[in-house]
Amino acid sequence: MKHFLDLSVSEFKEWLIRHGQPCFRAGQVGHWVCRSPGVPFEQMSDIPKELRTLLSRDFRIWSMETVAHRTSADGTEKLLLKTADDEHVECVLLRDDKGNRTACISTQVGCAMGCVFCASGLDGLVRNLTAGEIFEELLQLRRLLGPDERLSHIVVMGMGEPLANLPRLLQALNWATRKDGLNISARRVTISTVGASAGIRRLADHGAAYHLAVSLHAPNDELRSRIVPTNRKVGLGAILEAADYYFEKTGRRVTYEYVLLAEVNDRPEHAASLAELLRGRNALVNLIPFNPIQGLPYRTPRRQDVRDFASTLESAGVQVTIRHRKGDTIDAACGQLRRVREQAVVLSDFQQEA
Ligand code: SF4
Repeated sequence: MKHFLDLSVSEFKEWLIRHGQPCFRAGQVGHWVCRSPGVPFEQMSDIPKELRTLLSRDFRIWSMETVAHRTSADGTEKLLLKTADDEHVECVLLRDDKGNRTACISTQVGCAMGCVFCASGLDGLVRNLTAGEIFEELLQLRRLLGPDERLSHIVVMGMGEPLANLPRLLQALNWATRKDGLNISARRVTISTVGASAGIRRLADHGAAYHLAVSLHAPNDELRSRIVPTNRKVGLGAILEAADYYFEKTGRRVTYEYVLLAEVNDRPEHAASLAELLRGRNALVNLIPFNPIQGLPYRTPRRQDVRDFASTLESAGVQVTIRHRKGDTIDAACGQLRRVREQAVVLSDFQQEA
């Protein structure tokens, strides 16, 4: 049985026409699926019975099962979802004190990019998620919200390289941003990439003004290729050109993510080179002090080094924020939870929901 959300809106309309149903039902059914997660087709009260029967025969709404659910003291919640073919993906709900509720979602099982500080890349890529699975992460997280909460933002920063699975991601985001879907503004959606330059250009040409975040992590090709091995195929020059193109096409300022690894890429000379690289660009640098991950040899930078790094950038006119990761008590870095699961460590402190 096909996942309902693997269909694009136009494919669903074609299905409706083939079954003698009017196209406007697409919005009605989409609204039910997105706004009332968990309600089966049979209970969609304003849909004719005949159509409900056809939908139940041909589609399923849920394909993934929550196998672990962790909550941290700061309100962050993380789900480990099992797919129909027994793979695992992670997604996270972040809460802040301004009332923002942000879903951080994955686009692939594992990742081929191999960033040296990331748990997701340690075991390579297994497969792309389907559009339905990507969107289902949003629905699963939405079910965690209280009655007064609303999903306000989406960040595509979980497992996988989003631009390596772009068509399916765009299809899922189409449902997320439609008025009869989750009705989240495209401006509140951030797509993070390690820098697939062709993918950045495709995204720019797509036309939706999503916010782009490029993970740089180093100010020169030699160091970046050590931290982000896929850089050998692309190179910083091509990535920055593609990011400039994105800004020209969409008018949206690009964010550059920089995970600070003690003694690896957090030295004063790295800050000076990065400032030089971004000088004159309308850019925001997001500095992310690394938090230790089991099995990886990297260390957290000293607070003073982080402050000095930021000051060097600011002195060159580059805007900077320092992001301290939320949910550190729940292995919230992408891929950590799945890896623990795959390694068959006993998850005795999980709220088992299986
Ligand atoms: S940081 Fe992102 S791109 Fe790099 S290995 Fe991890 S999931 Fe893949």
